[in-house]
Amino acid sequence: MKFGGTSVESAEAIERVARIVQARKDRKPVVVVSAMGKTTNKLLAIAHAAVAGEREGSLRQIQELRDYTLREARLAAQPEDHAVLESTLEDHFTELSELAKGLAVLGELTPRSEDAISSYGERMSSYIVALAFRRLDMEAEHLDARRVIVTDKRHTQAAPLFAETYERLSATVPAMARDRIVVMGGFIGSTLEGVTSTLGRGGSDFTASIVGAGIGAEEIQIWTDVDGMLTADPTILRGKGHRVKTISFAEAAELAYFGAKVLHPATVLPAIEKNIPVLILNSRRPEVPGTRIVAGAVPCANAVKSIACKRKITLVNIHSTRMLMAHGFLKRIFELFDKHTTSVDMVATSEVSVSLTIDNPARLGEVCEELRHFSEVSIEEGQAIVCLVGDNIRFTPGVAARVFKALSAVNVRMISQGASLLNLSVVVAEADLERAVGALHDEFFSELDTDVFD
Ligand code: ADP
Ligand code: ASP
Ligand code: MG
Repeated sequence: MKFGGTSVESAEAIERVARIVQARKDRKPVVVVSAMGKTTNKLLAIAHAAVAGEREGSLRQIQELRDYTLREARLAAQPEDHAVLESTLEDHFTELSELAKGLAVLGELTPRSEDAISSYGERMSSYIVALAFRRLDMEAEHLDARRVIVTDKRHTQAAPLFAETYERLSATVPAMARDRIVVMGGFIGSTLEGVTSTLGRGGSDFTASIVGAGIGAEEIQIWTDVDGMLTADPTILRGKGHRVKTISFAEAAELAYFGAKVLHPATVLPAIEKNIPVLILNSRRPEVPGTRIVAGAVPCANAVKSIACKRKITLVNIHSTRMLMAHGFLKRIFELFDKHTTSVDMVATSEVSVSLTIDNPARLGEVCEELRHFSEVSIEEGQAIVCLVGDNIRFTPGVAARVFKALSAVNVRMISQGASLLNLSVVVAEADLERAVGALHDEFFSELDTDVFD
């Protein structure tokens, strides 16, 4: 059972979590938690302030984070545990201050130090939640995730070393879980050398599925702040989306990759491998059955299951300055994106030009400089990808026609269908995003197959 940031943001939220776990304790749950609320963002802000030379500012932010964390932790834990709770948390904040002071002197934030700092969120939240469970008379034990989740050295976006991790998980967790509830932090791990690493933003979902696969869990539950996977991103279409009751692993992975933040894109991988169903559930409304993500496609009368969006997309248009049909043009382009470790989401090509989208423009300047040796390049920022996902898209005639009809008033910059068999994506200006998603949602979800949608 994984509980995200909002599900553990306050003592009140943690108590809700405790009751949800307690009601299911016969199933011997293992609990994975995110950092409380926006703690990870705050830790990163502290690190950035420190390296920018704002020593006092960063120490003040640490103090604010300390006050918030201690206040909620005291309310969450029973009075008998306050002494140990406070001394443990104070130790963490002292270490954090030392780290920030060190960064302020160095003036440089390496990925490794970034991980050292951002790991404190999950290290503290998991400790607090384990203590809070004791208030409801649940025997809980805190497990430092860094002992069992082993990763490579790609700090800030490390990949798990599955064999080693599964071995450690199966040697540790089932024995502990027999008579206690194991509580561990998501997101964090350590390298084989024991250096703290993280799985990338939103990575606690991934931790939950790694743990579920490693111990052969019967189910992986992702508890969050929405009723499940919805037919559209609720931050774009407020209150309009419907709950998707069941969806396939492939569809969920595609939605996650194209911006449905409710699930980290890698979450389904361990689950697929061990064929463990993944559930998305709402910690504020535990009675709602949520979304069930399973191996096979689910028969569905609707062509589309959900619409995902990715904002802040940059469109890169590359036009060959050499003669027509110069072979090797695509190769040269993609070698440059590879060289500068910039990943490409969508591609469209014509004879002498290529358009593509990227979501991380950090190294685009270097890429463009080299691209200009053999092509003309133009960049358009402020774009968005809208991605319709559904297993049925490929079998249903007329989906593209319906998309274009719905988008008749919107300037579509790029389209892509067929690459993954279950998605149809378009690029529009971010300014048109709400309108585009609203129109597509009306088109594809005005009638619903009630076996699949709520
Ligand atoms: P947590 O902290 O629990 O991991 P996240 O904020 O990472 O929660 O993910 C949940 C959020 O994902 C929701 O609040 C919602 O705004 C967003 N979201 C984006 N697309 C979707 C979608 N298709 N269905 C449900 N939620 C979505
Ligand atoms: N706390 C981490 C983050 O904010 C991981 C997570 O919440 O999944 O990215
Ligand atoms: Mg998340």
